[in-house]
Amino acid sequence: MKHNLGSRAAFALIGLLTLALAAGAARLPAPFSAVVKTPTQHDRWYWEKTGQVVWEASADRPFVALTFDDGPDPAGTPRVLEILAAYGARATFFQIGSKVRQHPQLARQVAEAGHEIGNHTLSHAYLWGATELRIRREIEGAREAIEDVAGVGTTLFRPPGGSYTDPIVRTAERLGYTVVLWSWTEDPRDWTTTSAEVIKKRVLDSAAPGKIIVLHDGGGDRTQMLRALPEIVAGLIDKGLRLVTVSELLRR
Ligand SMILES: [Zn+2]
Repeated sequence: MKHNLGSRAAFALIGLLTLALAAGAARLPAPFSAVVKTPTQHDRWYWEKTGQVVWEASADRPFVALTFDDGPDPAGTPRVLEILAAYGARATFFQIGSKVRQHPQLARQVAEAGHEIGNHTLSHAYLWGATELRIRREIEGAREAIEDVAGVGTTLFRPPGGSYTDPIVRTAERLGYTVVLWSWTEDPRDWTTTSAEVIKKRVLDSAAPGKIIVLHDGGGDRTQMLRALPEIVAGLIDKGLRLVTVSELLRR
């Protein structure tokens, strides 16, 4: 009997403890109670097969694509246009919608010179973990800015920071875009304090047919990139490569 009472008391105690724990769990602060959702991200090999995300093109033609991110910007865009014109080279500019509105003349000049304009979001938002609604607003905002100002449509989207989560890629796809990143060996990190000599060497050492090279015509001091660019363009031409837009590079 005594033993019985003891075990009943024990059960009651366990019951109370369970209730107390459940009540405590319901009051846990946000970081514990909210599920932090990590966006799914298929790997490169998955996306490359679908053709929905592009790192580089096939190497069967002697084509290479120079791309310039984060403009239009008075710090880099006018000089980039001069250099490209001097060599008869074409390139793709992944422009930020808000900067297109800020520098409409530069955005128009890029389109009028025959270069391709790609979408680089409205505000250069890092979209890793963003909702589809936010991703859509960023892409559509830039698309509208580029259409309004430069009068051209866009079919290529480069997400800031190169993130290609499933929501980013699928939203871009629904809006009619192909996601364009860049060749792993063709990121000379020109946005850091890298010298012109190093930028040039990094690009030219691994330049080959089908590569997509990333440089920046906006977003900071572009002096070193601008010093390197004439030699990069000349060096690519010397290697027998033709500088084309990304759409031309991908066209079959
Ligand atoms: Zn960028």
